[in-house]
Formats: sequence, structure tokens, C-alpha cells
Amino acid sequence: MGNKLEGKIAVITGGNSGIGLATAKRLVSEGSYVFITGRRQKELDVALSEIGKNVVGIQGDVSNLEDLDRLYNTVRDQKGHLDILFANAGIAQFAPLGEISEEHFDNIFRINVKGVLFTVQKALPLFHDGGSIILNASIGASKGVEEASVYSATKAAVRSFARTWTVDLRHRKIRVNAISPGPIDTPIFGNLLQNEKQREQFKKNILNTVPMGRMGSPDEVAKVVLFLASDDSSYITGIELFVDGGLAQI
Ligand code: NAD
Repeated sequence: MGNKLEGKIAVITGGNSGIGLATAKRLVSEGSYVFITGRRQKELDVALSEIGKNVVGIQGDVSNLEDLDRLYNTVRDQKGHLDILFANAGIAQFAPLGEISEEHFDNIFRINVKGVLFTVQKALPLFHDGGSIILNASIGASKGVEEASVYSATKAAVRSFARTWTVDLRHRKIRVNAISPGPIDTPIFGNLLQNEKQREQFKKNILNTVPMGRMGSPDEVAKVVLFLASDDSSYITGIELFVDGGLAQI
């Protein structure tokens, strides 16, 4: 418990699970009031009771512009403004080149790229000067991960957004940074790894490729988002901060 974000208003998309949920807990514990979003009301309700206080859940899909309008209208009606935005919601689906369908491509770009763009653009009128926007990219943006061409391309787009928006928003003193997690132990792998053999192979790969030899925890990412959201990072903008146990650094 601390007070690094005392009185700050934050929005976290995909705040009901994994990295988003851990970040919501961190931000609330540092004095922030947090709006979390997620697609399913049931999961949102479970997350709200886990976080406990100073949190509101708003059901919605980040790729649906009307849902985003509803989210930000609620923030405006309840709090009047926004200081911190963590554009975190995203999906991971893999397919080898040669078997990529149009649906696979459209689905991942719709959520991971269009969703992030409009999540940020529609939040801008609510921002006070001096706010912080954090985008969740991935080491996939800079590594060749087998069968991940579409997912990794979406994350390269997200990393690029952070560069452009750093310049676009500098006159409003809004800092924009990207984080790039390595393998973090969250439910996202539920869809990717469908059987025990795949899970075993995945663990073996991690031991071999991550210098620290293990997955990261969602809270290890949340601590980094807190740093970028708070005044501790007041002279940092436009960066990609890796939280990857060294994976993309060697
Ligand atoms: P997760 O599946 O636990 O969380 C994803 C969250 O995004 C969920 O809350 C889900 O409801 C939400 N979401 C997905 N699609 C959405 C949509 N259309 N509208 C609204 N919400 C939506 O997984 P996570 O690992 O916590 O993933 C969070 C972010 O971290 C993602 O952008 C992911 O690409 C990124 N990431 C994760 C890892 C990892 O190893 N776990 C590594 C690098 C990057």
C-alpha cells in the first residue's frame, strides 16, 4: 500500500483477468480510482469483488466504438476526467504461414490494433495535461515467434503507435509508453496451449529461451505499469519497456 497515485483516475481495458487485473489491484493499492472493462459481465463481477474498493466495472468490447463511448461517458459522468489509461485488452491466436485465414487476420487486428487505437483516441477529451498512457505490446513485436505472424504484427503496430502518439500528444504533456511482456502466466495461454503435450513443450521452450528460466507473474508486469503511470517515470515517454526475463534482450 502506498500513495503514488493518490486521487488519480485510471481506465484499464481487459482489467478483469491476467495482467489487467493485477494492474488494477496495484493501482488501487496506490490510491487510484480504477474503471476496468471486459467483455463478460460475470468475469467482471468476480474481478470487482477481488479488487474490493475504488473500482467500477464496465462491460464492453474494445473493438466496438459504441461500447467505448459508453465507457468514457460513464467515466465523465462519475469522475469528470481521466489521468491514466492502460490499453491492455488483447487476444493471442497463432497460425502457421500457409494456414492463415482472413477471419484469423481480421479478428486479431480488430481487437489488438483497431481496439487500441480507438481506446486511446476516444479517451483524449477526458485527459488532463500531464497524464500517462500505457500500451500493452509484446516481445512478439521484435522477435520471430513461430506461427505468430499476425499476433506479432499487431503488437509491432502497437509499439509504433507509442512512438507516433508520443509526438502527437506532447503539447498536452501526456506521456505515451509501451510495455512488452515476455511469457507471463495468465489465462491467455488457455486458448493457445490446448493439450498437455503442448504445455510441456511450452515450458521446455521457456526454460531454454528465457534467461531467467521461468514465466513472469502478472504482478511483475503490474509493477512496471505502476512505474510508467506514476511520477517516478516523469521524464520517460515513447519507450518500450520490456518485462521479459531477458528473452528479447539477448
Ligand atoms: P488475459 O486473457 O488474462 O487477459 C486479456 C484481457 O483482455 C481479458 O480481460 C479479456 O476480457 C480482455 N479482452 C480481450 N479481447 C477483448 C475485447 N475485444 N474487448 C474487451 N476486452 C477484451 O491475458 P493477459 O496475458 O493478461 O493479456 C493482456 C495483454 O497482455 C494482451 O494485450 C496480451 O497480448 C498482452 N501480452 C501478454 C503476454 C503473456 O505472456 N501473457 C505477453 C505479451 C503480451
